[in-house]
Amino acid sequence: MAVTIGQLKENLGKEVKSRVLLAPYTNFKIGGPAKFFFEARSSADLIKAAQVANEFKIPFLVLGGGSNVLVSDKGFNGLVVLARNNNWQIEGTKVTAEAGVNLGFLVQKTVSFSLSGFEPLVAVPGTVGGAIYGNAGVPQVERGFIGDWVENVTVCREDKLVLLNKEECEFTYRNSIFKKNNDIILSALFNLNKGSFETSQELVKKFIAARRGQPYHKPSSGCIFMNVPIVDIEEVRHKFKGEEKIEDFIKKGQLPASWLIDKAGLKNKTIGGIQVSEDHANYLINIGGGKAEQVVQMISYIKQQVRDQFGIQLQEEVRYIGF
Ligand SMILES: Cc1cc2nc3c(=O)[nH]c(=O)nc-3n(C[C@H](O)[C@H](O)[C@H](O)COP(=O)(O)OP(=O)(O)OC[C@H]3O[C@@H](n4cnc5c(N)ncnc54)[C@H](O)[C@@H]3O)c2cc1C
Repeated sequence: MAVTIGQLKENLGKEVKSRVLLAPYTNFKIGGPAKFFFEARSSADLIKAAQVANEFKIPFLVLGGGSNVLVSDKGFNGLVVLARNNNWQIEGTKVTAEAGVNLGFLVQKTVSFSLSGFEPLVAVPGTVGGAIYGNAGVPQVERGFIGDWVENVTVCREDKLVLLNKEECEFTYRNSIFKKNNDIILSALFNLNKGSFETSQELVKKFIAARRGQPYHKPSSGCIFMNVPIVDIEEVRHKFKGEEKIEDFIKKGQLPASWLIDKAGLKNKTIGGIQVSEDHANYLINIGGGKAEQVVQMISYIKQQVRDQFGIQLQEEVRYIGF
């Protein structure tokens, strides 16, 4: 028998809501309603919500800052839990943060404690939990990913608390074990370097300035595709003969998806309310009234064009919800 909002309120408290539009909780400003919606203000709330969803056998989703998701126009037919557990602590070089802590805020705090390491993450929107899920960061920088600084991560796995060390998190470029399982990330412990406030503050300014020119404040999910690892250097040299940036890409080991999309002539391409950004071709912008369906069509069109023109298969970075 289908669970009712009354039953959920009995188990989770009267704050549980039904039919809450998800668009305002995403950076894309796209997405239909969640059947049930709950804001978890503590890790205990997150665990309880997972237990209740399990008990009533309803689909369950944790949302952080909503900056890397595409929510279907039909929404999500289950319980969406917003991670808003946001305690944090700094002791020496050790930083503990719950999943719902805003990442940019945490970066600023670490800098103010004269700790170094997190500076490249300053302009990555979203939460600590979302960043760990996708090993967020900046590939151009040494130790530029959040996973590079993790000592351990505490998760809720099938109703049990589990402590995973860094190796067990299996961090790679835009990837982690959490993309393959249903763990709920509750908190993480990081070990940063001792640094100087002034140097870190300068670095933070540099990383913020590097975003200038990107459509940072427009509704999007950031980069829609992952960069493409270069496997066969000679093949890439041959395919893109005469391109001045190619040796630089080879050195970095990746072809930027934005460069490929731009080269395919797709900047400004528009489908309904969705447009390939003129400023950064790996951003799809919701220029007004954009629908998830149109984003899906655009993704499919870009993948086809890049495949046809360069024989390269792009892979989405954004997470599909409710499809
Ligand atoms: C303008 C812009 C710039 C960006 N720049 C960068 C960049 O430079 N580098 C980069 O890596 N990314 C970038 N992104 C993408 C995005 O900011 C990151 O992926 C971010 O880490 C996502 O965090 P979030 O809290 O918003 O996650 P959400 O979008 O809320 O969720 C993403 C995924 O994580 C899962 N998740 C979230 N929290 C938890 C949890 N507690 N437990 C289990 N699963 C969870 C969700 O279920 C979902 O599948 C950018 C995005 C935008 C909009």
